[in-house]
Amino acid sequence: MNDVKIAIIGGSGIYEIEGIKILKESKIKTPFGLPSDKIRIGELEGVNIAFIPRHAVGHKIMPSEVNSRANIFALKKIGVEKIISISACGSLKEEIKPRDFVIPDQLFDRTKSRPSTFFGEGIVAHVGFAEPYCPQLRKILIETAKSLSIPVHAGGTYICMEGPQFSTKAESKVYRSMGFSVIGMTNLPEAKLAREAEICFATVSLTTDYDVWKEGEEVSAEKVMANMKVLTTNVKKLVKSVIMKLQGERNCSCKDALKYAIMTSPEAMNPKTKKKISLLIEKYI
Ligand SMILES: [Zn+2]
Repeated sequence: MNDVKIAIIGGSGIYEIEGIKILKESKIKTPFGLPSDKIRIGELEGVNIAFIPRHAVGHKIMPSEVNSRANIFALKKIGVEKIISISACGSLKEEIKPRDFVIPDQLFDRTKSRPSTFFGEGIVAHVGFAEPYCPQLRKILIETAKSLSIPVHAGGTYICMEGPQFSTKAESKVYRSMGFSVIGMTNLPEAKLAREAEICFATVSLTTDYDVWKEGEEVSAEKVMANMKVLTTNVKKLVKSVIMKLQGERNCSCKDALKYAIMTSPEAMNPKTKKKISLLIEKYI
């Protein structure tokens, strides 16, 4: 089987991708532990893709417990260069309606207790994260969603909270006043780790509700479920249709993110750490 260069990380409600012909299910070990679940490698529209359900099949892992380092490292190990991350979100703007897609271009970190780097323990690196999402992937996702007549917002800021509880009204109103677009619990540290692993990364945010800021629009589980159903149908359509367009070579800067980021001189590196993350750094040392 050829290399697998494209991966999907599925969020709440996305535990499989319809139409994938599964070729292999692999339990991939990493120096950071095991990924959320077995990685399913298969073929969709004639293209090899990998799929991980972020919360595991059966939804057993809460956002703070997701081992993003293992998920991203395992994908790097099998050769993945592009990740589409799917994430259910609440809307913080009137014009982003439940059932809309948002392809954010910015991120704001409100997580508190998640390991968010592959580095440390004797090797220091500072990757650029001013543009947290891959512009090339974002563009393809936006164009494809539009061509399928799926309501989509081209840009916006995703604020990632720790959870697992949802926001208070006070918090939700503050985030809104800061101009953020959607709120979710899982895009970080995923996006940071993908950048450190030099993998292109973009998110499809599925808007399930208006969070809790909107008076007279109380969130009911029933409504959210109905919205989720429409969103998962649409996102599966999007994935199926976008996959062919993701095969080209990369022209973005994601692939060279570590080029000038590693600060530690090779001779000063902790040999154990050097070995542990050699998959990420070997081409630079
Ligand atoms: Zn990229």
